Amino acid sequence: MNRRIGMKHYGFDWLDRFGNSCAEEAAMLRAHAVDFVVIQNLIDPVATTAAATHDDLLSKRLAVAGYDETGFRAALRNEGIAYYENLAVFFNPSQLAKRPELTPVDADGNRMRKIGWYVGLCPSDKAHLADRAAVAEEIVATLNPEGLYLDWIRFPGFWELWMPETNRDSLPEYCFCERCVVRFQEESGVAVPDRESQEQVRFILKNFRKEWSAWKCSIVAEAVGEIKRAAQRQRPDIRILTNGIAFGVDDYDNAVEEILGQRIEVLAQHTDSFTFMFYHQISRRDPGAWIARKTAEIESRTTRPFYATLQTKPAYLEPMYEAGRRRSSIPFKEHILGLQAVTDSPTDGVMVYQWTDYLEARRSGDFRLRDALHAFKEGRLQSMPESNFPND
Ligand SMILES: [Zn+2]
Repeated sequence: MNRRIGMKHYGFDWLDRFGNSCAEEAAMLRAHAVDFVVIQNLIDPVATTAAATHDDLLSKRLAVAGYDETGFRAALRNEGIAYYENLAVFFNPSQLAKRPELTPVDADGNRMRKIGWYVGLCPSDKAHLADRAAVAEEIVATLNPEGLYLDWIRFPGFWELWMPETNRDSLPEYCFCERCVVRFQEESGVAVPDRESQEQVRFILKNFRKEWSAWKCSIVAEAVGEIKRAAQRQRPDIRILTNGIAFGVDDYDNAVEEILGQRIEVLAQHTDSFTFMFYHQISRRDPGAWIARKTAEIESRTTRPFYATLQTKPAYLEPMYEAGRRRSSIPFKEHILGLQAVTDSPTDGVMVYQWTDYLEARRSGDFRLRDALHAFKEGRLQSMPESNFPND
């Protein structure tokens, strides 16, 4: 049984808030039994919905703190921790501001608007993908990671708002822009009558829904392939880790494939491994049942290694998300139930979102999160008595 532990190591709090040196940080990750991390870099900082000044502010903040990008990676290597550089593929609000033609369009011809932090990008633009591939190549040439972690690798959709009671009919679908419709015809061989664009979309969805979904899935998978080939020019043994949505074929009438364009079998032709986000508080699911059911489905669909990602902190609690009726805490016992479900599942290990929560717990003298990772790694979780996990 493989119980690898991956950590989403986002942000730079470890440096300027917790004051760790590169060596201290890497040693601390090792002390938490972490095998690999997903990290950010300054070549392609993870976009935020904050203004374009974000990148400048980040650079200044890190310059003050003395951030050493290659030094941190050397420290990780020194501790035997593999690192995957994050690459956001179809999410970048500042790029969208510069290139409005990347704005996704829905079936009624409406342009996508930002909801909260999220707004997607149309995935069919070849220049955007060429840019992502060039950046991937530069990251690998400069930082020599073991792998690339591809995030937002899908057609647009704010899946974090898909609650158990949500109907498929209420989920908007993108992208039906002219470029997408033209490419669909060219690449699928389907002839769409030369009519006004909304009529074309209705024609496709009525007569060629299956072909349309398959085309979307091929666009996403080909994006993985193009990025991988670019990265391989610098490092032939580069590993691609693709971030997937943890809903299956029977959730929302297969919306992960039809709306988001993620088909595991097609992605597996290009990616080396997968992560799937089992964020049970965000999605309001029972972690044990969800992980058991969905990982069995994934196992039946790919031979690639895959990891279940758990969340450690509640999210989407702002008033604008109140329709989701999410609970405002994740009791520690529930985290253990998630880890136990991963242990019992066919996954290759767990990934956790995210590291800052471990640093905060540690600072307050709470080592339960850390101890749970060791118990997971050593196969001791199942035998730990429930009394060890008082309800928070
Ligand atoms: Zn489009």
